[in-house]
Amino acid sequence: MSDKLTHKNILTKFAVQIKCMEPNLLIDKTQDEARQGEAYASQANPGVFEKHFYVESYGCAMNFADSEVVASILEKNGFGGTKNIEIADLILINTCSIREKAELTIRKRLTEFKRLKQANPGVLVGVLGCMAERLKAQLLEEEKLVDIVVGPDAYRTLPDLIANAGTGQKAVNVLLSRDETYGDIAPVRLDNNGISAFVSIMRGCNNMCSFCVVPFTRGRERSRDAYSILAECKDLFEKGYKEVVLLGQNVDSYYWSNPENNDTTTFAMLLEQVAQIDPSLRVRFSTSHPKDITDEVLHTIVKYDNICKHIHLPVQSGSTRMLQLMNRTYTREWYMAKIDRIRALIPNCSITSDIIAGFCTETEEDHQDTISLLQYANYDLSYMYFYSERPGTLAARRYEDDVDLVTKKRRLQEIVDVQWTLSNESNKRDVGSVFEVLIEGNSKRNEAEWMGRNSQNKVVVFPKGNFNYQKGDYAQVKIHSFTKGTLLGEII
Ligand code: SAM
Ligand code: SF4
Repeated sequence: MSDKLTHKNILTKFAVQIKCMEPNLLIDKTQDEARQGEAYASQANPGVFEKHFYVESYGCAMNFADSEVVASILEKNGFGGTKNIEIADLILINTCSIREKAELTIRKRLTEFKRLKQANPGVLVGVLGCMAERLKAQLLEEEKLVDIVVGPDAYRTLPDLIANAGTGQKAVNVLLSRDETYGDIAPVRLDNNGISAFVSIMRGCNNMCSFCVVPFTRGRERSRDAYSILAECKDLFEKGYKEVVLLGQNVDSYYWSNPENNDTTTFAMLLEQVAQIDPSLRVRFSTSHPKDITDEVLHTIVKYDNICKHIHLPVQSGSTRMLQLMNRTYTREWYMAKIDRIRALIPNCSITSDIIAGFCTETEEDHQDTISLLQYANYDLSYMYFYSERPGTLAARRYEDDVDLVTKKRRLQEIVDVQWTLSNESNKRDVGSVFEVLIEGNSKRNEAEWMGRNSQNKVVVFPKGNFNYQKGDYAQVKIHSFTKGTLLGEII
């Protein structure tokens, strides 16, 4: 579990509640806390493989999507996925470095693998993803049970690394690439609902926000071949999927130039082309950096009913001074104008955000600026964190992490409380409205109820009644009430 808070007051409370309530609590699919540490396997070819891999994924949606690429590479090399760690020949953990807490969670999990390694010394343990990239071979020294360390751009070399590790050598590849997009690899969809799938459209990030480790762990930004993205989305639709989530650290700066004719594709163009695959295929995307989301993108969202009316537009802070130190390249006023523009063009759009409390030198006044910006933006939901210094980042090198932990946590709590009120009011406004809901499956609590999402990405639960709906169908649902994270309604 990371140190991320959403509507809940304290982290542990959130952790407990998320397990016992409806699965997603209005959670942005791209940062689904409920899926942290999820182990999953493809159900397509059970019994075909003699060797098995087990993979657990942490962090952002990109990591979950990457695990599907890794699964594809491993299946081609004789390993089938399993959810049963006890029978695995290869145990992989796809890691996150975004905050210190995320890394500590993974370290703890690694110690739990020790028992399995003692029981079966032949089993190989591999660390994938951002933590592998950040710590490199150091991980092998610190975590003696680890055999393989692979960075996010080196997954194609996994079969060789496994072969090396099998002969008792430690295997490391953390080379970052300027052009790897895994565009030609058809991801193996791991145990998802068969309705909604992640599609990576780009990798890396060039933004260098001063607090962020991503540019160092995931390398330079590169956009994937537009044709391969469209082919993957079409294939998903033909297989019965009803929703694709286009993923990147900064999707709005997607830009692909066709090497054959130099024709270029912007994010707005790509969004339009994916939306045109079929009106019944929903399109979502994340994350949007405020500086890059253009009017062209907003107009495209308006033009197509099947492009979901939800924008995740992380602000990070409401103080212009903080934003400058964070290297976010916009001011408070500029961001507010962007919110105004979205509201003017897409009145029914939900807007969500990420916020960091207690960044270097943050004063009470800066903090109050964040609170007032939250109220101005009237977010439907935010992901809220306190600042965690990451080694090697610009902030770690340039600024002192001088806001004490008690103050960071107190400010975070105040931000959470304001967001909670805003989310509650947002839900209240939905009562009486009718939404088109894409049914994702049974409600976790009650098999007589469906669970799905509206275009705004809110979770909606409603009785199946005597209607003959199936998973993947759209239902018109009138909202009559809500719980903390779920709209409740009836089919009309
Ligand atoms: N690329 C996306 C963006 O720019 O919004 C998401 C990047 S990151 C995976 C998700 C969120 O983690 C960020 O938006 C930020 O709020 C938070 N984050 C990143 N580095 C952090 C740090 N050092 N301490 C606390 N939160 C951090
Ligand atoms: Fe990190 Fe900023 Fe890039 Fe997001 S845009 S991944 S916060 S550097």
